[in-house]
Amino acid sequence: MPTFVYMTRCDGCGHCVDICPSDIMHIDKTYRRAYNIEPNMCWECYSCVKICPQNAIDCRGYADFAPLGHSVRALREEEKGTISWKLKFRDGRQKDFVSPIRTTPWGSIKSPSDYEVPNPDAIKAQELAHEPEALNVDKLPALTPDQLKQGMV
Ligand code: SF4
Ligand code: SF4
Repeated sequence: MPTFVYMTRCDGCGHCVDICPSDIMHIDKTYRRAYNIEPNMCWECYSCVKICPQNAIDCRGYADFAPLGHSVRALREEEKGTISWKLKFRDGRQKDFVSPIRTTPWGSIKSPSDYEVPNPDAIKAQELAHEPEALNVDKLPALTPDQLKQGMV
């Protein structure tokens, strides 16, 4: 199941429309409320769920952390710097997780076009673009051949 909007909570602010990478959250012209125009194109990325100030959007959780139809709610609280996840299992159990969210201001992250064009030979390397500098480390952690041998014993 992709996202769906609780119409009574949505105030039509449009933040979900702006952030959706799939461009499928639209505002209904009659009711002035958001809805998912193409559910089968939803990545279930949760961007709209997290940004909605009214907590008006629900989404299916990925099977690895919410299997068998458990319900998942996410609540982003910018003033606290946290995002909370509430999982409700079908047998009545409930799990709550709280994680920190980014604290850098919106729009402060450089876009790919702000970086220097990478050397064409970099495509043969294992690092992704701008690694390891963008991760603030000198080099990516890697197992040595010795450590690999130990892991196989
Ligand atoms: Fe778009 Fe992601 Fe929301 Fe799906 S979960 S509607 S892809 S922002
Ligand atoms: Fe409605 Fe939330 Fe989307 Fe704003 S972000 S339009 S309140 S669903």
